[in-house]
Amino acid sequence: MDAHNKKFKVVLDAGHGGKDNGASYNSFIEKNIALSTTLKLGKILEKVDDIDVVYTRKTDVFVELNDRATIANKAHADLFMSIHCNGVKNAPSAAGTETFVMGVTKNASNLEVARKENEVVTLEKDYKVKYDGYDPKSPQSVIGMSVQQEDNLINSIELAALIENNFNKVRKNSRGVKQAGFLVLRDIYMPRVLVELGFLSNKAEGTFLNSEAGQNEMATQIAKAILDYKKEYFGGSAPDIKSIAPAAATSEVIKTTAKDSSHTTTVVNKAVSSTSNSNSGVEFKIQISASGTRLALKKQNFKGLEDVTMEESGTLYKYFYGTTSDYNQAKAALKEAKDKGFSSAYIVASKNGKKISVTEALK
Ligand SMILES: [Zn+2]
Repeated sequence: MDAHNKKFKVVLDAGHGGKDNGASYNSFIEKNIALSTTLKLGKILEKVDDIDVVYTRKTDVFVELNDRATIANKAHADLFMSIHCNGVKNAPSAAGTETFVMGVTKNASNLEVARKENEVVTLEKDYKVKYDGYDPKSPQSVIGMSVQQEDNLINSIELAALIENNFNKVRKNSRGVKQAGFLVLRDIYMPRVLVELGFLSNKAEGTFLNSEAGQNEMATQIAKAILDYKKEYFGGSAPDIKSIAPAAATSEVIKTTAKDSSHTTTVVNKAVSSTSNSNSGVEFKIQISASGTRLALKKQNFKGLEDVTMEESGTLYKYFYGTTSDYNQAKAALKEAKDKGFSSAYIVASKNGKKISVTEALK
């Protein structure tokens, strides 16, 4: 990436709109909450000099899923962020945030979220043709990713983990980073995530998400994750979130109750905390891939690379090559991984087991 004379471009995609309400419970309407949270997020990001914000919609209009993808690809953006709300019938206590990355899954609840979010295509003409035979009754029919898109998966997971970690700090009810086949993400060629802000079918959570304070809080946490992500992968300026977010959103922690989701909160902490038990300072390794499938750590599974290690990150598995305290050795290992075909491999750094940026590690 040419980081220094180019702006970091973010596409913000407010889910649904116009004739498509999305989820609707207790008079909380997904398309409205998604739009106003997205506009609040955009307002924060627009205050950062080297960020460009592109919107797929800024008003209550219907935008087809493939048009959203086209907007993102044409903009040659660095990031695509789709914002939604969850809802589930007959489970009023279900609550919590989750951030999805594109991929295939057999997990029933992930499939159900994807099925609901993809359902909108039935309002579009010729959806079977446009989406390669997609069958709304069978979310598994979303065709998988190309190799080029797989390359963006690692970055997508990193961003998703940052978002969920931030949500969890203020809401205490993160359901984690997940993977499923979303049509809106399918044809996009850049790191991309879909955020479910919470459950409108839960009265307390819906009330929170429908409020100005709730939307400011969620927008602020997403903005913070985007700034951290940008700093790590793109560089440039990194203003303090407190200087650009609405004051109320950063001054206090807004709590809501979510009894049923306590079992998922540990997942995210694991996702962003570090990997190693090293106690001798800085350590580098090469992240070569990430996958929803657990692969055996043998060289046949990693294009011949030996001694690959794995880290569990929510429902995903990250794979690393090499471990060294010497940055030059890390660079050599990176080259080796790229030569083997892991074209988007990159160096990650940690200090005393805590993840840090490579720039920090080199200080
Ligand atoms: Zn939605």
